[in-house]
Amino acid sequence: MLTDAQLQRYARQILVPGVDIAGQERLQQARVMVLGLGGLGSPAALYLGGAGVGHLVLADGDTVAVDNLPRQLCHQDDDCGRNKAHSAAAAIAARNPEVSVEVIPRRLDEADLDACLPGLDLVLDCSDNYPLRYALNRASLRHRVPVVSAAAVRLEAQIALLDPNRNDPCYRCLYPEAGAQTALSCAESGVLGPVVGVAGSLQALEAIKYLSGCAEPLAGTLLMMDLATLEFRRLGVQRRDGCPDCGGP
Ligand SMILES: [Zn+2]
Repeated sequence: MLTDAQLQRYARQILVPGVDIAGQERLQQARVMVLGLGGLGSPAALYLGGAGVGHLVLADGDTVAVDNLPRQLCHQDDDCGRNKAHSAAAAIAARNPEVSVEVIPRRLDEADLDACLPGLDLVLDCSDNYPLRYALNRASLRHRVPVVSAAAVRLEAQIALLDPNRNDPCYRCLYPEAGAQTALSCAESGVLGPVVGVAGSLQALEAIKYLSGCAEPLAGTLLMMDLATLEFRRLGVQRRDGCPDCGGP
């Protein structure tokens, strides 16, 4: 049941066909983890908090550095040296004090993920390292929690929704090894703020679609975005034979 204050706060999104009161209530009942509060996680977490997703778990072990500020919108100049998950939690509380936010101010390992994932509806993978991405993939398969995965580097970004409850490929099907291509990091290769902004905003959008039911989220599709030419390509993706994580088709 939405209060008058909630009806006022969420008025514009409730008007969107398919969201309505019922979709807003579904958002408020949702429990979502944002793994990594950098360039992707900043817009993703701010939009989910702003939209009234009921419970957010924010996990990041890094501290804010001055070279994060051009793109990591959760953090202000004053936050340099502060843990990113705490900084992001403060930014969300300032935007929407209704949201319950749990902070995990450290780098998670696979055992942590096994402890965190049960009871979550969705995880947004906004992390920047492959061991963690693979650990999240295995945990998401074990606990059957879908992941909205995104990555951005230079002027390129990609996003997919990987749902173990459908016949989706898993992250390891898409990226069998952390090879030369996938190992490119923003620290080594550079990235523009709006490029990660687009990818992180799309993660929030896919999450809102999935949780509220207002539109069909990506399924069996990897969206590849060339932000230099603004060409977006949808790549049909399938489970990979012999995938060590999901076992393949
Ligand atoms: Zn797989």
